[in-house]
Amino acid sequence: MTSVLDRFLRYVQFDTQADESSDSYPSTPAQLILLKALADELRALGAADVQMDAHGYVTATVPATSVTRQAPAIGFIAHVDTSPEMSGANVKPLVHRRYGGEDIVLPDDATAALRPADNPALAERIGDDIVTASGTTLLGADNKAGVAEIMTAVEHLLTHPEIRHGVVRVAFTPDEEVGRGTKYFDVAAFGARYAYTMDGGRRGDLEWESFSADAMTLTFSGFNTHPGYAKGRMVNAIKVAAAFIASLPTDALSPETTSERDGFVHPYAMQAGVDRTSVRFIVRDFDVQGLKTKEDLLRALAEQTVARFPGAQVHTSVEEQYRNMREVLAQHPAVVAHAREAMRRAGITVRERPIRGGTDGSRLSFMGLPTPNVFAGEHNFHSRLEWVSVQDMEKAVEVIVHLAQVWEERGADFG
Ligand SMILES: [Zn+2]
Repeated sequence: MTSVLDRFLRYVQFDTQADESSDSYPSTPAQLILLKALADELRALGAADVQMDAHGYVTATVPATSVTRQAPAIGFIAHVDTSPEMSGANVKPLVHRRYGGEDIVLPDDATAALRPADNPALAERIGDDIVTASGTTLLGADNKAGVAEIMTAVEHLLTHPEIRHGVVRVAFTPDEEVGRGTKYFDVAAFGARYAYTMDGGRRGDLEWESFSADAMTLTFSGFNTHPGYAKGRMVNAIKVAAAFIASLPTDALSPETTSERDGFVHPYAMQAGVDRTSVRFIVRDFDVQGLKTKEDLLRALAEQTVARFPGAQVHTSVEEQYRNMREVLAQHPAVVAHAREAMRRAGITVRERPIRGGTDGSRLSFMGLPTPNVFAGEHNFHSRLEWVSVQDMEKAVEVIVHLAQVWEERGADFG
C-alpha cells in the first residue's frame, strides 16, 4: 500500500498550472502528463475500465463487491490543475512532523509565514503532520489532496474485497481553476448516478449549496463627434457609465460588504469609449429570485442614469453561469445524508455551510450528476501559504471508503 502522503508528495511535483488565456484543452499540455501518470497508476493498481479520453479526462472503475444488493454506482471526482494566480512550477513540499503550534516560516521566503493566530484551522491541527510549500509557489493541495485521497481509497477498496460496495467510479479532470473542468465531462459515459467532488477545506466540511451565478453586461451608447465642435451634440458614454457606477450602493450588495448568505453585484471589467462603454458584472445570490432582483436593480439604476444624459442609451444582457446545486440535491436527499453518515462513522463532526462560489459539482449537478463537495483538507487555496494536514487526508480516505459502504447498505431509497 502507498500512503496518501507519498502520493500527495509525488503529485504536487507535477506543474499543472491552468492558463485562462489559452484556447487549447486542457489549457496547458502539462496537465496531461499528470493525468497520464494517474491512468497508469490506476492500471497498476488493478482498477477496471481505465480510460483517458481525447480531452484528458481520466476515469476508472472499482468493480462492485456487493453480492446481494443493487447499490447505485457512485463517483468520486478531483481536478489535477492548479490556480493560474500563483506559480505551480518546482513545488518543494515540506512535511512538518507533529506540528507543535508554532509559526511555520517557509525557507525560500522569510516573509512567508504560516501563523496559527491567522489560521484558526491550523491551530486545530496541533499534533498533526502539516505539509506546506517552500515559500515561492503554491502547494497544490487544491486539489491534489483530493486526487491522492481518491487514489488511496481506490487502492484500499481493491485490496480489501471483503468490504461490500457497489460500483465505484473515479474521475480526474483538468481545468477546474479556469472554469472549464466540466466542459467536456461526459456524464452518461461516466455512468455514476451520484458523485462527490473531494475538493473542500476543513475536516468535516460538507458543501451542498453554492451560489447561483449570472454575468451581466450593460452597454452605454453615447454620441461621438469632433471635440472642438461638440457643444450641445456630444454624449460621452464613458461619463454615463461612470455616473451609473457611482450610483451603485456603497454600503451593501458588493463583495466587500457581504458575507454568509448575502449575494452581491460586482463590476469587474470595463471597455470604455466615447461612443460606447460596456461594463461587465458578475451577479451572485443563493437563489434565482435574488439574482433577478439584483439584475432588475442594475437595469433600473442604468435607466435612471441615462435619463440624466439626453441622447444616451443603455442595453443590457444576462448570461447564466451556474446554479445553486441545492436545487438538484434537495431532490436526492440520500446523497448528502450518506455523506453525513460516512463522516459520523469516521468519527468526524460534520460542518455544513454554503459555498460563496461555485464548484464543478454545481455544474455537474445540473448536468444530471448530483455532486456535493466533501473536505479534502485544503487550506489557503491559491496561495504560497497553502497547507494540508496528513491526518485530514487520511480521514478523507476513510470517508470515501465509508461512503461506498453506506451506499451499498442503504441505497438511494432514503428520505
Ligand atoms: Zn479546487
